[in-house]
Amino acid sequence: MSEATNTDVPARSTVRGRYRFREYHVTTVPDPLALPTVAAECVTGEDRNCGATSGTLHTQDELTRWIAGHCAATGHELYEQTTRSLLRAEPGAWQ
Ligand SMILES: [Zn+2]
Repeated sequence: MSEATNTDVPARSTVRGRYRFREYHVTTVPDPLALPTVAAECVTGEDRNCGATSGTLHTQDELTRWIAGHCAATGHELYEQTTRSLLRAEPGAWQ
């Protein structure tokens, strides 16, 4: 009865958005000199989250290693990942 086919998946090749503010166009592109960083927080827990955090890491491997270590020590299984990346605004043509 319900239609759960709303797969609104953004294109993952590039993070590129266009925002129109009056007549001014800006395109955002990933900053090529700034690699994305990742971090994880352990959100295991019923009343409240464990809250342990990996700190800022630079590769998925490092993140997985931190999770593996925390999981081995505590048995916690649920983590929230945050990815941060810099975007550079590139003003477009005036319309
Ligand atoms: Zn934990």
